[in-house]
Amino acid sequence: MTVDTIATGAFTESEERRELRKAVAALGAKYGSDYFLSAAAEGRKTTELWSEAGRLGYLGVAIPEEYGGGGGDIGDLAAVCEELSAAGCPLLLMVVSPAIVGTIIAQYGTAEQKQRWLPGLADGTATYAFSITEPDAGSNSHRITTTAERDGDAWVLNGQKTYISGVDEASHVLVVARTVDNKTGSLKPALFMLPTDSEGFSYQQIDMGITGPEKQFTLFIDGVRLPADALVGSEDAGIEQLFAGLNPERIMGAASGCGMARLALDKAVAYAKERQVWKAPIGSHQAIAHPLARIHIELEMARLMTQKAAALYAAGDHMGAGEAANMAKYAAGEVACTAVDQAIQTHGGNGLANEYQLVQMLTGSRLTRIAPVSREMILNFVAQFSLGLPKSY
Ligand SMILES: Cc1cc2nc3c(=O)[nH]c(=O)nc-3n(C[C@H](O)[C@H](O)[C@H](O)COP(=O)(O)OP(=O)(O)OC[C@H]3O[C@@H](n4cnc5c(N)ncnc54)[C@H](O)[C@@H]3O)c2cc1C
Repeated sequence: MTVDTIATGAFTESEERRELRKAVAALGAKYGSDYFLSAAAEGRKTTELWSEAGRLGYLGVAIPEEYGGGGGDIGDLAAVCEELSAAGCPLLLMVVSPAIVGTIIAQYGTAEQKQRWLPGLADGTATYAFSITEPDAGSNSHRITTTAERDGDAWVLNGQKTYISGVDEASHVLVVARTVDNKTGSLKPALFMLPTDSEGFSYQQIDMGITGPEKQFTLFIDGVRLPADALVGSEDAGIEQLFAGLNPERIMGAASGCGMARLALDKAVAYAKERQVWKAPIGSHQAIAHPLARIHIELEMARLMTQKAAALYAAGDHMGAGEAANMAKYAAGEVACTAVDQAIQTHGGNGLANEYQLVQMLTGSRLTRIAPVSREMILNFVAQFSLGLPKSY
């Protein structure tokens, strides 16, 4: 097996998936880091790329065919996400809109809800945000206090969410709430599609240091009235209903991190081959070569684990997928941070010059360690569930 065979995923992925990767990589190359970074710098959105990816069926690749999608699985969507990220276009809303919201509606929505919300996801004309994080709950989702109360046929929602991505671009936010009957104790999530133009709903942008076109917001939900059919799934469903979306989110987060690591590693290797300050290219010094070789190994392991998580999810093994998705997200977050840091080191002073488009990746790569689930919470999960150690908190 050649290194190229490993890098293209031929060992684990179908011919069809590899063709998809190639086609998406070509689209990514057409836009690239210049497009993404200038949109971020000028406060524009990446609408052209999003629309074209939607038209070509890439955003909807995992939406069922009967709703206009490609009928593929989360592994296909993760491949799209990784390729765009590796081309310098890490679209954060891909992790949210088609992945979390798309999979939850496809699995738990009624026929009418699927008909209403999925076709727009399939062709990229609709974008939905997702909100679980709250100021006083953070990583502990069991502490969320956004509540939904029945009022006749309607629901009335109250609460606050924070660090919610892309609300300004979304027609709806999928809100994770709890009913007044399940106000305390272990979370029984009740999920609602809330139109962003609802009365009683407002949001405020958070001033973030991340280089990216997608923004984060604090949401204020003050007595928002929603019709009965805004509820997706059951009002006191088990946590599985939520994890139907959170595991895909982790797989997509991992794919995005792997894409970032690939881009940083490619840049570092190219520079190490060409830059010469003594008698040979800097890549001939082991202090430069070994860290890059290590990153290549760690990256391939993270990609394999991401593919495994996606395969388990597609096979319906949700427990197995949960463990693998956590591990994939951990591995990808670590390698994304290490790769960007080492690429900057390899470039010396140039690594911090905007022209080389590495310094702008620092915050994005750092994010992969924090969201959608932090490195520490993954280690807690693995210690407790994979190793059977006592819960530490
Ligand atoms: C750019 C960005 C986009 C985001 N987009 C969305 C979105 O679209 N929708 C959404 O719902 N959320 C979103 N989030 C929120 C994100 O999911 C959370 O930031 C993340 O889950 C961590 O929660 P927190 O920030 O409240 O950290 P906290 O929970 O306050 O944790 C702070 C630190 O303490 C550690 N910690 C906490 N508990 C433990 C423990 N028991 N053991 C060990 N360590 C612990 C954490 O690992 C972390 O290092 C986004 C965040 C960012 C930064």
